[in-house]
Amino acid sequence: MGLFFKNGIVVTMSPDREIIWDGAVYVEGDRIVEVGDTKQLSQKYETEAERVVDASRRVLLPGFCNIHCHSTLLICRGRAEDASNWDAIWGIMGSIAEAMTPEDAYMTSLLAHVEMLKSGITSVVDSGIHMMRAGDAAVDSGIRAWLHENPRDADGAKIRDYGVYEYDAAAGEKGLKSAVELVYKCLLGAHATDVCSPDLLRKIRHEADRLDVGVTIHLCQNDIEPKQCKKAWGDWPGVMMEKAGFLGRDFIGGHGIFVNEEDIEVMARNNCSVSHNPLINAKRAHIAPVSDMMAGGLNVGLGSDNMFYDFLEVIKTAQVVWRLRVKDPTEPPPQTLLEMATINGAKALRMEQKIGSLEAGKLADIVMMNYNRPRYTPLVEENVVSNLVHFGSASDVEMTVVGGKVLVDDFKYVAGDEQVIIDNAQQCGQEVWIKAKEAWAKQMSRRVSKP
Ligand SMILES: [Zn+2]
Repeated sequence: MGLFFKNGIVVTMSPDREIIWDGAVYVEGDRIVEVGDTKQLSQKYETEAERVVDASRRVLLPGFCNIHCHSTLLICRGRAEDASNWDAIWGIMGSIAEAMTPEDAYMTSLLAHVEMLKSGITSVVDSGIHMMRAGDAAVDSGIRAWLHENPRDADGAKIRDYGVYEYDAAAGEKGLKSAVELVYKCLLGAHATDVCSPDLLRKIRHEADRLDVGVTIHLCQNDIEPKQCKKAWGDWPGVMMEKAGFLGRDFIGGHGIFVNEEDIEVMARNNCSVSHNPLINAKRAHIAPVSDMMAGGLNVGLGSDNMFYDFLEVIKTAQVVWRLRVKDPTEPPPQTLLEMATINGAKALRMEQKIGSLEAGKLADIVMMNYNRPRYTPLVEENVVSNLVHFGSASDVEMTVVGGKVLVDDFKYVAGDEQVIIDNAQQCGQEVWIKAKEAWAKQMSRRVSKP
C-alpha cells in the first residue's frame, strides 16, 4: 500500500541539495518512506505500491510554502492591483472585506486554495476576514494552512477616512480575543507596527507562547508605517518589536519593504523570518531589500499576498526584482529562489524537520512538474532548477500531494469539483462587489490624503 513515483528527476532540497536524475520516491500514509534511485527503490516498493506514477520527463519537488497571503482578498482581484499600498489597504480592501459574509469568505478562500494547490503550493500562511470559515475552506481543500487574524488597537476607519491614528486598547484586546479563538494549527497575527501598540504586541506574544504558536505581522509594507511607529512609540519597528518581546525564531514579518539597517540587524539577532512578496510589491512599484535581509542573516521565504496565487510567477518575479534592485544579473542564483520557496518557508514555520524537502521521514508534500514541454527543453542535469525558476509555469503542475493525499492529479484539482468552486466564488464575488461599490463611493468622497 503506497504511492510510488519512479523514473523522475528528484530535486530533493535536502541539506546537500541533492538532485537524483533517475529518481524515485515512495510514500506511505502521510510520510515519505524513501527517496533514491529508481532501480533500487523499484525492487523494494513497486510491487507493493497501490499506485505507481511514471515520472519520466517529470521533476519531483517539495511542495512550495507560501508564507504570507490573504485568501479571502482574492475577491479584490482586478480592483486593488493598480492602487498604492495605502489606497489598496485602507481604501479598497477594508470596504470589500466588510461587505463579505462568512459564506463569501469560505467560497473565496476555497477557490484561492485550489488555485494555490494547482501551482504547487502545499503550505500556506493565511489571514483575512472570517478566518474561521476560511479555515473550513482550508480543511476542505486539503491544503496545509496556518491561519491567523491580525488584531490592532488603531481605529482603521479613522486612518482610512481622515488619515489619523487613534489608538484604543480595548479594540486591541477584542481583536486579540478573536485571534486567540481562531488558533487552529496556527499563528497569532498582529496587524502592523503603526497600528499596534507595544503593549498589544506584548499581550499577543504572551498568548502565542501560552498556545505554543508563532507570531506574524505586516512589516514596513508602506513608508508611513515605520515613520508612524517611530512617532508613536519612539523606536523604529525592529527595536519597538524587540522591546515588546515580540520577536523570535517563530516570527514572520510580511513584506519588509521599508525596513532599515537597524531593523534587519535587530530581527537577525532574534532569528526572525521575513516573507518576501515580490509580485504584489512590484505591482505597487516597490522592491523589498531582500539581498540586504539575507546578507544580514534573516531567513527569507516567499509569499503571494493577495490576488496572486501562482507560485511559479512569484518565484520568477522574486528573481527579476532582486536583480533590478542590485543591478547584478548573476544574483541571486536560481537555487536561492527555490530555497526561498521551499525550505526557507518551512524554517519560517519551524517545520523544517517535517516539510520543505523530499527526505525519508518527512511529510509527503510533493509537487510533480511536467517537463515534457518546449519551455524546459533542452534539459540537462545543470539546468533542472534554473529552468524551473526562469521558465516554470503553474500550468505544468501535473500532481500536488499534501500529506500523502493526491489533491491535484493530471493537472486537475481532484479533491472537489473545481467548476462548482469557481461558480460559487463567481456568484459571491459579484454580490460582494455590488455591496462594496456604494461603500467605496462614500469613502472616496470623504477621504483625505495619507498622513
Ligand atoms: Zn498581507
